[in-house]
Order: sequence, then C-alpha cells, then structure tokens
Amino acid sequence: MTTALTHAHTASASPAAIAEGGHLLRDGRLVAFPTETVYGLGGDATNDRAVAAIFEAKGRPSFNPLIVHVADAADIEALVMVDDRARAVIARFWPGPLTLVLPRANNSPVSLLASAGLDTIAVRMPDHPIARALIRAAARPIAAPSANRSGAVSPTLAEHVAESLGARVGLILDGGPCRVGVESTVLDLSGERPALLRPGGVPVEALEQALGATLIRPTDHADAPKSPGMLASHYAPSVAVRLNATHAAPGEALLALGPTEGTLNLSPSGDLEEAAANLFAMLRALDRPEFTGIAIMPIPEHGLGLAINDRLRRAAAPRPA
Ligand code: AMP
Ligand code: MG
Repeated sequence: MTTALTHAHTASASPAAIAEGGHLLRDGRLVAFPTETVYGLGGDATNDRAVAAIFEAKGRPSFNPLIVHVADAADIEALVMVDDRARAVIARFWPGPLTLVLPRANNSPVSLLASAGLDTIAVRMPDHPIARALIRAAARPIAAPSANRSGAVSPTLAEHVAESLGARVGLILDGGPCRVGVESTVLDLSGERPALLRPGGVPVEALEQALGATLIRPTDHADAPKSPGMLASHYAPSVAVRLNATHAAPGEALLALGPTEGTLNLSPSGDLEEAAANLFAMLRALDRPEFTGIAIMPIPEHGLGLAINDRLRRAAAPRPA
C-alpha cells in the first residue's frame, strides 16, 4: 500500500464515496470536498485533534479561525446564538456563499481551536449537493478552510487538491470544477452593528438591503480599530503570559509541554498536534484570577509549533490597558 502513502485517494462523489467520507470524518480524518466557492479541506469541527490535523495539513504558520459548515440552517442553533438579523439573511442567502460570524452558544460542541479561541464562530451552509451530503453523512458540523497548502492558490478542481495536499488528506471527493470560485462573503453579526469582514460571493448591497442597515466596512476598521467588528480578532488571556519558561514563579500557573509536571500539560509526549488541539482550551482553563500569570514552556519552532508560537507571542505581547 505504498501508493496510499504518497497519493490521496480521489473518488468521484458516488453515494458510496460520500458514505466513506462520512465515516472518515467521524474517525477524525480529513476529507476534501467541493463547494460552490472552492474545494474545502474538511474535518470534524467538534474534534480538537481533527481541527489540529487541518492546520497541520495546510502547513499554516498561524491559527486563524475556520468556517464551520452545516448541511441545514437549523443545525447552527446548537453551535451559535442566532438572532433576527441572522435569520433574515439566512432566509435570503442560504445555501450560498455567505458566512456569518455569531456568538458561540453555551455548550457549543465546536472546538475552540476551530474558532482560534474566539467567543464567536463563523458558520456557513454551502450551496453544493455533495458538500451537504457529506456533512449529513458525517452527522456533525465540518470545519473547512480551502484545500491547499498555505500560500498556494485556492483549489477549484479535485486535481489541484491532490497536487497540493497529496496523502495529507484521507479522501478527495471529486465533484468537478467549482462554480463560483470566489470566497464567501464574511458578515459579522456578533456586535451591535453588522460588519463586513470580507467581501465575497454575496454582494454587500444585497446584505444591506436584507438587514435594513449599513454595514461597517473593512476600511472603517483601519480608521477605528476599536469598532465592534474588530473586537477580539485575536484571543488573548486576561492574565499575563510569560514564554519560554522553565518553571512557574510563585503564583503563576505552568503550562507544560513534554514529560514535566505542570498545572496543565499541552502534550506529555511532546506531540505538537496534540498540543495544538489543547492550546486554547488550556489557556482558557488557566486564565483565572487566582493565578498572577501563565508561564509557558518553550514550544519547538517546527510543524504546528510555528502556529502555536505565533499565537503565544501575540498573547504575550504588551496590550493596551
Ligand atoms: P477561509 O480561510 O477562506 O475559510 O476564510 C475564513 C474567513 O472567515 C477568514 O477571513 C476568517 O478570518 C474569517 N473568520 C472565521 N471565523 C471567524 C470569527 N470567529 N471571527 C471573525 N472572522 C472569522
Ligand atoms: Mg485559502
């Protein structure tokens, strides 16, 4: 089976292949699938390890929040808090290239790594029968960025995915060329005023008409960095973070890596994928007033360590009071 190690298994999207994809996703494996925008690299959005595997496969040097895909609009109710504005645009534009950023629901099963530690989650219902059949077969929300290595162009054909990701993906469902080829519009409805985070397949004017409101635009953000749309674009603990620590100072919590005792341990075996999977949940668990700060042991600068360190450096950077 050496070919299985070097070549991704591409299958035309028959019912049997979609069922296989559903099994793989439930097992925590990655499946690439067509949407109306581009091919997505899907993993179980409720499984931290599967989401870590997405970042590993893409080779991204940073964690950015992923879009969580659902088969039916009603499926977002368990994941995020849905208000009347969200219902209005969903009724008009779903399924389609519109992503909504909404507050995380209490007890949302979505991995904190999928939302890069944020209190909001981006959700979308793709307008593609294969995508929705796969998500239904998996019977869970699917986190999916574009199915290419970091820095490469977004794939609009199954062959592009195979070239870019190869054996990093368990299965590639071939649905032919993608129709839109443009990314989804990202609309932030987590704040008081709706904000456009990224222009895309659904025009801004149509959204403004459906909402009866003017959107805060990305250009407004540069002038007013504290506008609601920019709130918490990066997660950082409220207590101080100290990097490259060998041990905790009195009052500090120690976030360990490797075979050391810590207040918590990202991965006792030093596995960086396990560490990534645990990162945001453990930072949050240690972000408590009884600690004066969080001391974090050194993380190796390779593989997912690059993305972990990128996030930790931001968390440790001085911030405005
Ligand atoms: P893509 O990499 O094409 O899947 O795009 C995902 C887009 O959604 C990026 O622009 C992300 O920054 C944005 N996004 C995803 N989740 C969130 C979130 N919780 N808050 C703000 N933006 C988000
Ligand atoms: Mg991309």
